[in-house]
Amino acid sequence: MIDLINITKDYGTTIAVNNLNLHVASGDIYGFIGPNGAGKTTTIRMMGGIIEPSSGSIIIDGIDMKENPVAAKKIIGVVPDRPFLYEKLTGAEFLKFIADIYEVDAKSVRQRSDDLLRQFALWDWANEIIEAYSHGMKQRLIIAAALMHDPKILVVDEPMVGLDPSAVRMVKDIFKDLASKNVAIFVSTHTLSIAEDMCDRIGVIHKGNLVAQGTMDELNSAAQTQKARLEEVFLTLIHEA
Ligand code: ATP
Repeated sequence: MIDLINITKDYGTTIAVNNLNLHVASGDIYGFIGPNGAGKTTTIRMMGGIIEPSSGSIIIDGIDMKENPVAAKKIIGVVPDRPFLYEKLTGAEFLKFIADIYEVDAKSVRQRSDDLLRQFALWDWANEIIEAYSHGMKQRLIIAAALMHDPKILVVDEPMVGLDPSAVRMVKDIFKDLASKNVAIFVSTHTLSIAEDMCDRIGVIHKGNLVAQGTMDELNSAAQTQKARLEEVFLTLIHEA
């Protein structure tokens, strides 16, 4: 579903991402972890077609992002790390607005919006302006908005920041449910316990380089640790790198 082939992004002399190769299959939840400034957000912005790589290819379900960005973006839902919401709109209006941008079939917009508002426990707030929402409610609305066009791929930058434990559980369950329906999910996070719990495979990026990727067992082998938790594996890999 997602193929990054030899992706490099430089900002002048800073190489934010260096020759990155990764693949996320349909139905997989791929976690992307790394220290501050490692290149996670840059990677997500390139995957979402927000910025272009300096070199390399991004293939989304067989579509080259550079050659056909609109077609690629239509099958991706992106949750950015610093989302922008039109706060004078209500939650329901915002979802309708996003549906219009993605040209969702008008007949299904209302049903889809109602379903997502219920699923993300925002139903009681559907007709309140977003300005009145708490941080966690805004975060849930942004994730719901990314799902309005029923994407085959969901790319999420730090989904759990500011969410309370029950909202974290809700989002984790929704991601697992989407994966069971063959959606490919790419998620960057600093919350290693969530990555460990939720992801099928995890990539560790450090200073723009992918230092290891795979299942927990594969990461343990790469770090030469024995059935260690992700925190220890991560710190070992970063220390060695
Ligand atoms: P964090 O965990 O702190 O969010 P990150 O892994 O998401 O970090 P990025 O935001 O991708 O890291 O940044 C990677 C590198 O690229 C950093 O050195 C950052 O300073 C640099 N960088 C990112 N965006 C720009 C930009 N627009 N112009 C110049 N340098 C940038």
